[in-house]
Amino acid sequence: MMKFGNPERFEISAQWLRDAEPRELLPKDFGWSMGELKIVVGGVSLTDHQIHGEQKDAIRWYLGPVIAWLIREWKWLMHEEAYAWPTRPADSSAITVSADLQRFIASEYRPDREIYKTIREWWARHALHSADPSALYPDVFIRRVEDNVEISWLDQQPDFPPDGFELKLKPGTALLPVEDVAEPLWNFLKWAVKTAPALEKEDKHQVAILKSKLTDVKGLAAAELEAAHFANEAIRSVIENARKASHWVPNRRVLPDAPVIAEFDTPALMFGGLNVNFGEQDILRLFDLLVQHRVGGESDGLKSLVSSPSIYEFIQPYAHGYELAYAVRESLGIDHQTAFVDIHQIVYDLGIKIHSEALDTASVRGVAIAGAGLSPAILINEKNKFNASKGGRRFTLAHELCHILFDRSSAKRLSHVSGPWASIRVEKRANAFAAMFLATPHALSKALTGAELSGQMKNLSERFGIGIIALREHMHNLDLISDEEFQQGGGWRH
Ligand SMILES: [Zn+2]
Repeated sequence: MMKFGNPERFEISAQWLRDAEPRELLPKDFGWSMGELKIVVGGVSLTDHQIHGEQKDAIRWYLGPVIAWLIREWKWLMHEEAYAWPTRPADSSAITVSADLQRFIASEYRPDREIYKTIREWWARHALHSADPSALYPDVFIRRVEDNVEISWLDQQPDFPPDGFELKLKPGTALLPVEDVAEPLWNFLKWAVKTAPALEKEDKHQVAILKSKLTDVKGLAAAELEAAHFANEAIRSVIENARKASHWVPNRRVLPDAPVIAEFDTPALMFGGLNVNFGEQDILRLFDLLVQHRVGGESDGLKSLVSSPSIYEFIQPYAHGYELAYAVRESLGIDHQTAFVDIHQIVYDLGIKIHSEALDTASVRGVAIAGAGLSPAILINEKNKFNASKGGRRFTLAHELCHILFDRSSAKRLSHVSGPWASIRVEKRANAFAAMFLATPHALSKALTGAELSGQMKNLSERFGIGIIALREHMHNLDLISDEEFQQGGGWRH
């Protein structure tokens, strides 16, 4: 087997096999391409299976369709992040897209049929199954997430498996640095077109086409690759003009050996993954925020707190957020018993500039920028309902502080817009961080009196400077409010 990549991150290995059948009995398209393919992610082999009582780690099938698909969809696989239809994103694209396909496939309602078509097109760009529905590959999805590549998979068996065939995998997700996926895949493609065992004239022609398409992909301009990241064409064009008007020099980084943007230009990082209807004014305001913060760096105090813990820790995002909040409180010397945390002062002392503005897009709660080449800033959207109260604004500040400290990409840059469409795990973690940063169970239980809880909430909310709804949720998570009391008061979740 030829191996590409690192099995602890991402590895694809393959070999060609000689087919015993005469050529004329094999499929016309790619009948020359019998081989074996193995995919390993994070040390887990996704192609492990059992067939006729034997354990195998590589799938034996025609490789041609997979090679053709990778070349055809390369730009999208490596750069497209957002879903092209309104959805409530789940943990991974494998789950989100499969669930939405199920939901819309049977619908007779006309608009649903259109949505189904859109989902199906997105699926075709990202799901390995779309390369060859007849193959026995696992249900793997590849997509970009900010400056990372997400690989996710389900445990579904192929539609028409041969007798005694069973894939061994459990569902999973990995978020990997772009290089770790892009380079092995690209090297695999280069190897495949170079060594393809085509002998007949027609087969050689098929390989020549693959070769020439691969060369075309190699020649794609950086701006064109990056354009695949923009879900919203209107946003892309506004940013294009804003870049020109402000003489913005793109700070994107292209891989030296593969046609992939490893780090997006900052405005693309900020807006590319969002499929939201931002008004032009808002895009320009946020672009201006980036321009303003293109000078300066970060304080040593802030630097010492920054890290990039994986969002796929084997721990619930809220528990992870709590843990991170404890760690930061401790680093800043805030006692567990302290009831009121002056979040404005803390953010200010860390050298993070706070902007408070009314954006037209009410669903944006806050925006955080930080990292290489940017001085850190948080924007609080006055238009967002959540930010109407003092407690809400404090919560948003703590939430955005979590993004600045822990949600930087592998490139150590952050340009994050918080709203209902953002990654659910990342948002849950930031919300939990904010709640725990502003109120520990030590301080809360000390502040509680023996009186009826509902009568104390207003007082607690003022004392800790958190809105009542967020505080109730937090106390419920901490078991300071029972399930029963929580339901009675109208259970509400982020
Ligand atoms: Zn957020």
